[in-house]
Amino acid sequence: KVYHDSDADLSIIQNKRVTFVGFGNQGSAQAQNLRDSGVKNIIIGNRDDEYKPKAEAAKFNVKSISEAVKDAEVIFLLIPDEVQHEVWKEQIKDNAPQDAVLVVASGYAYAFDLLELPASMSVVMAAPRMIGPGVRDRFVAKEPYPCFVSVEKDPNSNALPIVLSIARAIGATLGGAVESSCREEAGIDLFAEQALWPAINACFREAFNTLKAAGFSDEAILHDMYLSKEPAEVFERAATVGFFRQLKFHSPTSQFGQLRGTKNNDGTALRAKFEKVLHEDILSGEFAKFWSGAFTSGSSDLEQLWKESEDEPISQAEKRIGLHD
Ligand code: NDP
Repeated sequence: KVYHDSDADLSIIQNKRVTFVGFGNQGSAQAQNLRDSGVKNIIIGNRDDEYKPKAEAAKFNVKSISEAVKDAEVIFLLIPDEVQHEVWKEQIKDNAPQDAVLVVASGYAYAFDLLELPASMSVVMAAPRMIGPGVRDRFVAKEPYPCFVSVEKDPNSNALPIVLSIARAIGATLGGAVESSCREEAGIDLFAEQALWPAINACFREAFNTLKAAGFSDEAILHDMYLSKEPAEVFERAATVGFFRQLKFHSPTSQFGQLRGTKNNDGTALRAKFEKVLHEDILSGEFAKFWSGAFTSGSSDLEQLWKESEDEPISQAEKRIGLHD
């Protein structure tokens, strides 16, 4: 189902006391859009840190997170996914009104049960498929952008009109807001991050290694693979004419090679790997448990993984040709 401006009553959110926890990419964009949509009572909850002066400079009333949520009817939780559970537990849970409406912009924390929620609290999702500056710029230019909306928890039987009002106020119903769910949003997002892109990244890494082993030069391989920005062009066209149909812009030799090569790559092993990552790691909640735990204990492997990626032959080749140091 797709919701449009005509499905949403803007006055619902205009008359609520709204708190934004976080004034980063999404928080700053959505808070400004709400204000320009006539929502008068907005408080920003932020630590005394990098983003607090930005919120003050934008003429918002800024308080500590625990103070900011005290009287809120609607709470936007717009801080990074991996810290939400901790900030929720320590600064929001015992300070927020029990019957507030919680708004998330990604499904992660709710889908994987990372937030302890009072029975009378509603939970909705308004998740722009767009970076924060895009959410703001498109709103100002009155241009549409894609967004997912959902009602996750509705103890007061009023959450749908509220989330639609919010979606309209941030500019998300202009082009149609798509009904989804936290589970679906988080599942697809994490799948792309943990299955699809790793497979693509590994393809590029092994393609480089194969061509390098055949004696081809770093410059030639890297320019052909991506320095030309051809993959960006390909994806641009895939988004406008279709994933396979964009091949019509390639030479007949390329079309034949790609279509035959794709057909011959039956994908059985890849599919089995994808199924395992989706079901055993992501939808089971195992990854969320591991990642939240890593942040709570401060022991993620991220730095080590970065270091290993810098040691890859493809990264070393980029260094040799002067792409980075
Ligand atoms: P940002 O990284 O831009 O968030 C920064 C904000 O979070 C700042 O206000 C920062 O405050 C605060 N913050 C960071 N760490 C902490 C902490 N430990 N305790 C308290 N406050 C903290 O986040 P995004 O806007 O990118 O993401 C917010 C939500 O929106 C997420 O759920 C994300 O998945 C979702 N989303 C993001 C999109 C994007 O393109 N960025 C697209 C769609 C959804 P300070 O540093 O001043 O302390």
